[in-house]
Amino acid sequence: LCAPGQRFEMETVDIRGVPTRVWKNAPPSLAALIQLSRAHGARPFTIYEDERVTYDANYRAVAHLAARLREMGVGKGDRVGLAMRNLPEWPVIFFAATSIGAIIVPLNAWWTGAELEYGIADSGAKILFLDGGRHGRLAEHYRNMAQLERVFVSRTDAKLEGRFGHFEDLIGGAKTWADLPEIAFPQVRIAPDDDATIFYTSGTTGHPKGALGTHRNIITNIFSGGYAAARSFLRRGEQPPEPEPRTSLLVIPLFHVTACSAGMMTTIASGSAMVFMYKWDPVAAMEIIEREKVAVTGGVPTIAWQLLEHPDRDRYDLSSLENIAYGGAPAAPELVRRIYTEFGALPGNGWGMTETMATVTSHGAEDYLNRPTSCGPPVPVADLKIMSPEGDRELPVGEVGELWVKGPMVVKGYWEKPGDTAEAFVDGWVKTGDLARLDEEGFCYIVDRAKDIIIRGGENIYSSEVEDVLYSHPAVTDAALIGVPHRTLGEEPVAVVHLAPGTTASEAELQDLVRERLAAFKVPVAVRFSDAVLPRNANGKIMKRELKAWFAAEQAA
Ligand code: ATP
Ligand code: MG
Repeated sequence: LCAPGQRFEMETVDIRGVPTRVWKNAPPSLAALIQLSRAHGARPFTIYEDERVTYDANYRAVAHLAARLREMGVGKGDRVGLAMRNLPEWPVIFFAATSIGAIIVPLNAWWTGAELEYGIADSGAKILFLDGGRHGRLAEHYRNMAQLERVFVSRTDAKLEGRFGHFEDLIGGAKTWADLPEIAFPQVRIAPDDDATIFYTSGTTGHPKGALGTHRNIITNIFSGGYAAARSFLRRGEQPPEPEPRTSLLVIPLFHVTACSAGMMTTIASGSAMVFMYKWDPVAAMEIIEREKVAVTGGVPTIAWQLLEHPDRDRYDLSSLENIAYGGAPAAPELVRRIYTEFGALPGNGWGMTETMATVTSHGAEDYLNRPTSCGPPVPVADLKIMSPEGDRELPVGEVGELWVKGPMVVKGYWEKPGDTAEAFVDGWVKTGDLARLDEEGFCYIVDRAKDIIIRGGENIYSSEVEDVLYSHPAVTDAALIGVPHRTLGEEPVAVVHLAPGTTASEAELQDLVRERLAAFKVPVAVRFSDAVLPRNANGKIMKRELKAWFAAEQAA
């Protein structure tokens, strides 16, 4: 979408009083981006079952829906809720709302009714879009919420009345968007640092918080996302090739920044296609990879694991896979090597959080194969520093402390939570709550979340170090280290693992494995075997809070 050769130029601008490096050629708003995306015309943008929506059709649908929203009186700063699986209408609603200056509020499609009600009430959404599945199950939770002026449901046979209407009545179903007549795109003045999104955090360590993001925050990913692939060329002083249109299988949900900002923004930049699945299923995924010649997939490490470990993997032609990239959760070094050797694909990793609207570090190709425990160096517009636990002192290279991040991807703060915002956001920096170290070359290594660190009699145990060792055992496909209370030591480490079907490993064997490689105090005092895969949230993160509660209940019983 940008002139060749200018892609990775930077400039410094003032963002809320803080001089910040930004990508110079980024489009100023999501409205500008969606208009530029028409350049990809007849290429497919979204593919879902037998629905193929081209860039042109997607653009037409956005223009028409934006016009309908304006007629309903939706304008700058109004919140528009979006509670949907990955469907072709998701990006249409996302771009239509943000193109007229409204704030889109992607709501977690895994949420229960009570959580959905919280998201709607917390964001103050006045318009809500849902898919039929959600409406069928959860309508009682929002049916009587007075704040909702209009509710639109897609893909439902239900009779809808009053404030409730069918999405298809607004702009038709996906298959008809290509035939929508050309209309003028709504002209609303939008500045790069205007509000655009409220994404909720995953709720791994506490209650989900709404992060208020700007147009610039999200658009930054277009260049940040492309940079990892270009880095090795730039390092050699060569012009990186233009990104080629490819097909990606997007199995992670768009309501998290990993898929929406990191995934969808880089898709648009290169004119690529995203294939959606109704529900994650490794066999269905392999069928799609073969049929659509998918080049890119991943999202979160557990997706890559499930493809690797699948007993029927050899029945499918997966040779089109070029990149398997993920972020959002720790990835075992074992995974990196296996993606490369068994799929012949390049592994990629990126670190980010809802508060940074996705990509802050990016890691790929030989860099990643050589440093499989790192999540990569920062993208050029991000600054990282490692701070003392008190936050008063920057720590030297190699020391573990809290990771702080600054750059054009850092959101304004938490929606209507001034206390939490003041605590986490300081002079353009966001305190991430992750413990990390940097090496001499600037590569970042996440060792744990500050909230999950285990302190055993004064000694720090970072869970990722122990989990990586457990993952190196061929039978272990899921591993989590949790801290459990101990009367005199404060806490002790306990491992919870899930083994690949048909394999075995004993508690002593796994403890010995850790003892061989790490200090004695890091050896789990117990190993629990879970028959099921470990509980994860929609973003692929193991819910350690649940494991701790489960262990406590087991002890009490
Ligand atoms: P909550 O803030 O509500 O407790 P959450 O932190 O899981 O939930 P997200 O914003 O979705 O919500 O996730 C960001 C976190 O995910 C990071 O703080 C980090 O702990 C983890 N993470 C992200 N990327 C990586 C990565 N590449 N490697 C390891 N951990 C990662
Ligand atoms: Mg968090």
